[in-house]
Amino acid sequence: MKDTIEERSWVEIDLAAFQHNLQLLKEYLRPGQSFMQIVKADAYGHGAKEIAEIAMAQGAVYLGVANLEEGKLLRIQGVQAPILILSPSLISEIKQIIRYDLSLAITDTAFAEALSQAAVKADKTVKIHLKLDTGMHRSGIWFEEALDFYNSVSALPGLEIEGIFSHFASAENDHEFTRLQETRFSEFVQALPKPPRYVHLSNSSGLIHGYAAYCNLVRLGIFSFGINTTAKELDLRPVMTFKSTLSQIKDFKAGDSVGYQREWVAKTSGRYGIVPVGYADGYDYLLSNKAMVLIDSIMCPVIGRISMDMITVDISEILEPRISDEVVLLGEGDPALRAEQIAALYLGSAYELLCQVGRRARRYYHSKAHILHSSPLARRDFVSSDFGDSKLSQIISSALNQRLDSPEIGELIYREILRTFFYNKDRDVHYRKNFRHEIRFDKSDNPAYYRAKTTLRYKKVLNADHFIIACAASSDILRGYILRTDVEYRWLLDSDLQFKAENFQLNAVKVNGLDLKTEIKSGEGYLEILCSHPELQKLKNQEVEFEINTNTLYPTASHQFSVFITELTRGVEISFSYPGELKDVEAVTVFSGQQRNPAIQRADNRIILKTAAEEWVFPISGVVFCY
Ligand SMILES: *Cc1c(COP(=O)(O)O)cnc(C)c1O
Repeated sequence: MKDTIEERSWVEIDLAAFQHNLQLLKEYLRPGQSFMQIVKADAYGHGAKEIAEIAMAQGAVYLGVANLEEGKLLRIQGVQAPILILSPSLISEIKQIIRYDLSLAITDTAFAEALSQAAVKADKTVKIHLKLDTGMHRSGIWFEEALDFYNSVSALPGLEIEGIFSHFASAENDHEFTRLQETRFSEFVQALPKPPRYVHLSNSSGLIHGYAAYCNLVRLGIFSFGINTTAKELDLRPVMTFKSTLSQIKDFKAGDSVGYQREWVAKTSGRYGIVPVGYADGYDYLLSNKAMVLIDSIMCPVIGRISMDMITVDISEILEPRISDEVVLLGEGDPALRAEQIAALYLGSAYELLCQVGRRARRYYHSKAHILHSSPLARRDFVSSDFGDSKLSQIISSALNQRLDSPEIGELIYREILRTFFYNKDRDVHYRKNFRHEIRFDKSDNPAYYRAKTTLRYKKVLNADHFIIACAASSDILRGYILRTDVEYRWLLDSDLQFKAENFQLNAVKVNGLDLKTEIKSGEGYLEILCSHPELQKLKNQEVEFEINTNTLYPTASHQFSVFITELTRGVEISFSYPGELKDVEAVTVFSGQQRNPAIQRADNRIILKTAAEEWVFPISGVVFCY
């Protein structure tokens, strides 16, 4: 797998191991019990979307996230499963929680009332899960007050109590206290007139120890990722493996110290290696002088302090170390590399270790040694509400520049633009549909010019009872017309030509087959044709078909002819026909749509570019025909 990976350090996510763990855990479910997959903190650093998809396919009925942002991101990524926000939400988040159809934990009456009002206003029913504190003394309503709370919340309109739950403080190892929590919760459930659809209490370790058998839902987190926080023997496989590469090899002599504060001092001579990973990559500082890494099947001790971006390891035991050898820091490969073991070295938490390691590195998803895909380094998809307009423009322009090299970024941008304009904002965007542009060059009487006939057809919502067709004598003037929204077509006339009928003529301009009236206005360097018809008033705000035919001249010496897409367009076909004497005509396309390039077909003296009918093409697109 390493051959295809270019990073200095990376994370491999073994989806087959995840599936294996889920299968194993599912055997502990009682009849009638189902499970919620916990995907908070980006699924403990494994990637919430990927984990969510597999878990749902494996039978999860719910996903659990920490907060609105996490739930919203999953929705934006297209996850449709029920999602529960486990931590308390804020009143300021209510609007979006409703909009993204998230369920949420409720711990407070004032909040429930605010939620109810917002739900009624939005004409929605919001699913809530009441959270009880049965002894953990963190969030939740104290169990002795829970019945009153339940009754007052059930009376609120716009809310559906879909679940009740509580959380164990130490199901891993404290049997007595866990039983107490279990009893408190069960007494509450029994006091209810009718339990809601989901009653849930156990996390991973609660399930494994057989607690809360009377509940019908279990919330699975850490064990599904292959980490066992109990003393019980289980065949769980680590899903995340964190790797890096050997980047330098050096020798030390007895007495040499290595690293900051000179904490490690060599007793004999030997060899050590530099690995380009440090605490900034989530490899914890407290592992200084404690951890081991695996290189070439040999466990090598980390020597000296962990730096921000580097560690040093003793590789004296390796016979032939080579630069670029793979270094395994955590995960699969040796029992000592399991997150539980590594966290134990510094009395840390395996939960935390997974989250912090997953933050900086690119993730490669694989199953049975096949890489399926990799996550972008900028882990989140761009969520536009995070950014102001100018920041967003910067991102878009730099990404569009980069997309020439990176289909991945191009795809992100494409999706983001669609989301921003269509799905999120519900904007009334006007765009052109089924855009057909034919350009035909023929010889003219004047050898310095081709006769150029253009036909433009497209559908669009009519937003006014008139529009303009403009002809400009300089690109500066043309640019002004590109910015105007009342201009449907523009042409750049050779500056040696005059605005005369034989040089630029509008042959036809129609809306839904209706011939429009035209009124010509000209000035220094421009010609404007105002197109209108009294009937257009009735067609306003309806989708209509435009047709524009022009007849003009184009300089033969130019050797190139450009067509720009100036408006958001869905489905593009541009065809260019040229006289037989022209050989080697090429089409150079720059398309900012889903595909970088449209399909290109060639026929006799004709080039046709075509996108799929439903494909969006953004305004920074175009083609240059070179002849
Ligand atoms: C994180 C979390 C879980 C998952 O716990 P694990 O020990 O990782 O299985 C379950 N329930 C709640 C409320 C959580 O916040």
